[in-house]
Amino acid sequence: MKAVGVGINILPHASRELCALGLEDALAKVAVTTRDIVSITASASTSQRAGRALAGYDVPQFSIHRGDLQMVLLDAFIERAGADKVITGWRCTRVDYDGGEAIAHFEDAYGKSLPSQRGTAVVSAEGIHSVLRKQVYPDEGPPKYSGINMWRGVTRWKPFLSGASMIRIGWHIRKLLIYPIRTISTRKAQLVNWSAISKRRYKARDWNRGAA
Ligand SMILES: Cc1cc2nc3c(=O)[nH]c(=O)nc-3n(C[C@H](O)[C@H](O)[C@H](O)COP(=O)(O)OP(=O)(O)OC[C@H]3O[C@@H](n4cnc5c(N)ncnc54)[C@H](O)[C@@H]3O)c2cc1C
Repeated sequence: MKAVGVGINILPHASRELCALGLEDALAKVAVTTRDIVSITASASTSQRAGRALAGYDVPQFSIHRGDLQMVLLDAFIERAGADKVITGWRCTRVDYDGGEAIAHFEDAYGKSLPSQRGTAVVSAEGIHSVLRKQVYPDEGPPKYSGINMWRGVTRWKPFLSGASMIRIGWHIRKLLIYPIRTISTRKAQLVNWSAISKRRYKARDWNRGAA
């Protein structure tokens, strides 16, 4: 299992669910607990408090590396369910029903069949390209592309503003987001996530294409 990605902002309505699962301390250890959000537009600049300090929320906002979030979730799952319940490299291809039972079919990365698994229910969480969703909704078509693209990256940089600030420059279809996601051990540097967002049509999504 390998950590992939860059920054994710876990806003309070999402961190509420993770805190309810008892993960607040584990997240606070690896993430930056966002303290304030600075918004800059052509006509104004405002600053507001984030997360727990924002009226109506009793949980924090976390800015985190996607891989660090995945590892917190993986550790919690292993602790609660056991390491033997984490099985990688099994691609689900189809689900059939047999009387009151569901049968999930799998193959490995080379397309070789793996033993089918039977159970009372199958819960699929395969992401945006879900094979099982296609099976259940065959006429749905691919996800709708809004035309909004992001150019993203991370940079090691010294802390800016409060050291836990999120900066948003612009709005909606043309904006720049900058926020720290990890404090590097010396505390003199942080891993800072940046995303430039604009509306510009591309033919296909591709995480690995160079920015142009
Ligand atoms: C770099 C990056 C930054 C992002 N930043 C943000 C952000 O700041 N805020 C935000 O809200 N969202 C963000 N997102 C989006 C967010 O990561 C996704 O919305 C979220 O991961 C979707 O979760 P999921 O569990 O539905 O699917 P996924 O995280 O895609 O997980 C699906 C899992 O299913 C597995 N799988 C796929 N097909 C099969 C199959 N047939 N059989 C078995 N397993 C299968 C995959 O290997 C994967 O492990 C970001 C995404 C990326 C890549």
